[in-house]
Amino acid sequence: MASIFTKIINREIPANIVAEDDNFIAFLDINPNAKGHTLCVPKKEVNKIFDLDEETYNGLMTFSRKVALALRKTIPCERIGMSVIGLEVPHVHVHLIPLNRMADIQFKKKISLTNEEFEEVAKAISENL
Ligand code: 5GP
Repeated sequence: MASIFTKIINREIPANIVAEDDNFIAFLDINPNAKGHTLCVPKKEVNKIFDLDEETYNGLMTFSRKVALALRKTIPCERIGMSVIGLEVPHVHVHLIPLNRMADIQFKKKISLTNEEFEEVAKAISENL
């Protein structure tokens, strides 16, 4: 069965898309640790990051860096943190999270945003790419 992220890639379910090319997509996390929390995902559906072929792995890092630089320009923060977990969605994704303190990367404290805020943030990041 297609992963939830493949459904986003195929536009079967909605997401706030920030960036996309032939092989990768970035969209806002639906349950963010911080404003601007973004997921970078290879379109190829693979469960675990270190099972990606080397070209896709390196491509994902290059794509994530580009999105992280746009995120840094958009969201005032101390730095952008990067994390790979995958315990919830078995389709490789890199979390990019604006950080001000260690707690921001710990997936414990979540923030809530309105649909309008999600849309505004996604647009602002994509305009800084
Ligand atoms: P992980 O698999 O790395 O533990 O976490 C998966 C992440 O995907 C979580 O932060 C969760 O909020 C996010 N997520 C799960 N389902 C959806 C969805 O349908 N849309 C979006 N945008 N994010 C999702």
